[in-house]
Amino acid sequence: MVKTHDYGEADRIIVLLTRDHGMVRAVAKGVRRSKSRFGSRLQLFVELDVQLYPGRNLATISGADTVAYYASGIIEDFTRYSCASAILDIATQIVGMDEDAHLFAETTRALQAIQDAEHPVLALDEFILRAMNHAGWAPSLYDCAACGRSGPHTAFHPGAGGAVCLYCRPQGSAEVSSETLHMMWLVANGQPLRVTAEHPELQATVHRLATAHLQWHMERKLPTLAVLDQA
Ligand SMILES: [Zn+2]
Repeated sequence: MVKTHDYGEADRIIVLLTRDHGMVRAVAKGVRRSKSRFGSRLQLFVELDVQLYPGRNLATISGADTVAYYASGIIEDFTRYSCASAILDIATQIVGMDEDAHLFAETTRALQAIQDAEHPVLALDEFILRAMNHAGWAPSLYDCAACGRSGPHTAFHPGAGGAVCLYCRPQGSAEVSSETLHMMWLVANGQPLRVTAEHPELQATVHRLATAHLQWHMERKLPTLAVLDQA
């Protein structure tokens, strides 16, 4: 359940990230009437089991059961809310039209983590790195992305594909410590707790590089990520 907006007098358009059919837009009829049975279940950050009737442009939702509710802890906290919104935004951008059970699982896993994560931004970065890996454009974090020379290297450029050596680094590469790239590797590989315990100061750099790489490959800036930077 990714987005919702009012439609007509009593209806609502619901945008769903699905396990089997990519993004699905559907109309939920009559749900803004107070008596609606399932209208109250159609919320953000909720995993639903829905009954859909296909239509030419829009499917129709005729029923919904709550499978998992991730919104607690998220909706009342600005940082968690921003991180969770960014996760849904990113999933929306990278999902195809087909079955993507992996992305669906990563998304629900990340939302679950955000609810009570000590460092929600790090949980977001973990999602970003894992999602990019799944999409096939994860940054190189050790070998030079251009020539393959073994690292560790001390420059990073999203356009070049991540870490770059002294000979390949394009103009405008970010100077980074090899510790930072190692931290990113740990985050991408499910060890973010070690990262924060050992090097809290590197978190902001990891976030900056992960989001820069993501947005370069998406060829657009995500407003949900910008909100987080202003916090
Ligand atoms: Zn190189």
